[in-house]
Amino acid sequence: MANPVILTVDDDPVVSRAVARDIRRRYGDRYRVLRASSGPEALDALREVKLRGEQVALLLADHRMPEMTGVEFLEAAMDIFPAARRVLLTAYADTDAAIEAINVVDLDHYLLKPWHPPEEKLYPVVDGLLEAWAVTPDAASTEIRVVGHRWSAPSFKVRDFLARNLVPYRWLLADDPEGARLLDAAGATEADVPLVVTAEGKALIAPSEAELAGLAGLTVVPASDFYDLVVIGGGPAGLGSAVYGASEGLRTVLVERRATGGQAGQSSRIENYLGFPDGVSGAQLTDRARRQAVKFGAELLSAREVVGLSEAGGARLLRFGDGTEIAAHTVVLATGVSYRVLDAPGLADFTGRGVFYGSTATEAPSCVDQDVYIVGGANSAGQAAVHFSRYAARVHLLIRGADLTASMSRYLIDQLERIDRITVHPHTAVVGGAGQDHLQRLTLCDTRTGEARSVDTSWLFIFIGAEPRTDWLDGVLVRDGRGFIVTGPDLISGGRRPAGWSLSRDPYHLETSLPGVFAAGDVRAESVKRVASAVGEGAMAVSLVHRYLEAQ
Ligand SMILES: Cc1cc2nc3c(=O)[nH]c(=O)nc-3n(C[C@H](O)[C@H](O)[C@H](O)COP(=O)(O)OP(=O)(O)OC[C@H]3O[C@@H](n4cnc5c(N)ncnc54)[C@H](O)[C@@H]3O)c2cc1C
Repeated sequence: MANPVILTVDDDPVVSRAVARDIRRRYGDRYRVLRASSGPEALDALREVKLRGEQVALLLADHRMPEMTGVEFLEAAMDIFPAARRVLLTAYADTDAAIEAINVVDLDHYLLKPWHPPEEKLYPVVDGLLEAWAVTPDAASTEIRVVGHRWSAPSFKVRDFLARNLVPYRWLLADDPEGARLLDAAGATEADVPLVVTAEGKALIAPSEAELAGLAGLTVVPASDFYDLVVIGGGPAGLGSAVYGASEGLRTVLVERRATGGQAGQSSRIENYLGFPDGVSGAQLTDRARRQAVKFGAELLSAREVVGLSEAGGARLLRFGDGTEIAAHTVVLATGVSYRVLDAPGLADFTGRGVFYGSTATEAPSCVDQDVYIVGGANSAGQAAVHFSRYAARVHLLIRGADLTASMSRYLIDQLERIDRITVHPHTAVVGGAGQDHLQRLTLCDTRTGEARSVDTSWLFIFIGAEPRTDWLDGVLVRDGRGFIVTGPDLISGGRRPAGWSLSRDPYHLETSLPGVFAAGDVRAESVKRVASAVGEGAMAVSLVHRYLEAQ
């Protein structure tokens, strides 16, 4: 496999040579450094690299170029290599353009010219960006190969897990010649899939998520058995707590049962998060937060589910699914909510084989030129419809009500109306699914007349709301009737503190009925279900953690 490319673009030959020279000096043994003297020339080079099946890790473009500015080039380059990291070289006078570009082209960094000495000003930036790129699916040089069946739920689970954790992998069908060769080499048959083969040639048949995490270099075992703060859940609230906790000097570990990002990580475009006027993909936003948490020294454990919480003197004990435990002075519960399951005959059999909950990013490229059905009338369904319309022949959005106005944001309704490929079907419910080895047919019903009709499709994506999965906290914390965790003033009933409350003060604002245990984000009763509020509560929980620790 050829080395991934670093492409530099500058119309000034002297500067162009200098950048390429400095980059080549440090990265030339692992990356192929290409040089272009204009945006159009650089785009031609990128197309050629793409055709050869090679990868681009980093784009470094000067802003002020005559034919096409650096920002315009980076915007066009995003369509060819979306995962490549983007750096703009600017003169001091152009910093406004660079700051604007942070939103327009999701710029990773802007470097002021001159960048000397490179050891101080250039290499630390590029090191960090290449490190981030190395965990994107494009980093084919560290490739993991997954061999499976198109319509197999276990194969889907493996791919979805790797994709959500931003672990690069190549997907091979078991009956492809290359897939068959790998199966043969691993001494496995088509009946054994999914087979996962690492870059070093280690093969695992039907691995568990913990095994996969270990294989992909994600941390699964805590480094210590005692922490100042354990954060449970790696969505925006948990990541917010981890960033603030670690940056403020608390020994912090974040435990995530699947992949950091949570629900937000599945959002194809978040348009209403402060500071991103052009929107930002949930995966990008949460990947940045994950890197930020790690940078500040937070430990992140993946593929570990917390199944028990108890107190032992001043410590809080957390039990994992495998029976092992860690302890901490304080805990932030940021376990969010999970998709509600659509209960219609036949659908459960096809989960992961045509029926999907979320999973927009993993499956969208497979839906090219096909008819896709989406159930749900809220923003998550609307975002998915917009995303799928870039791939599918037609996107059918099924809603029970007469229209979307009550359940979806106006900007998203307007967006849907502008896309011809999307049809909204009001008063429509899914009442059944059928097929052989995967979903092939849906039965839809008119909710007013009860009239049923059948449609042929292999793609159903369900976004019908969510619920907290907090049964494991039953009897430990006060929860409301729907399972959301009650905190702060809401715990005081008739002037009385919650049963078992041992302190002489009232619970702090985000504190649960167990002192030192806080809840933040969607899992908290009465919380606003938004990325911004989840991040805010995650940060606020940490300030309350400090207050709690100071009083101990
Ligand atoms: C498709 C979609 C689009 C959205 N779009 C927007 C938008 O545009 N704007 C907006 O503001 N909001 C949007 N939202 C809502 C937003 O994503 C949520 O409000 C936000 O993610 C809540 O963050 P959280 O950290 O509280 O919980 P979550 O994001 O739900 O994260 C919780 C995490 O905890 C983990 N977890 C749960 N239980 C355990 C356990 N026992 N042990 C270990 N880990 C556990 C889960 O795996 C998950 O990763 C969208 C949601 C979806 C699904």
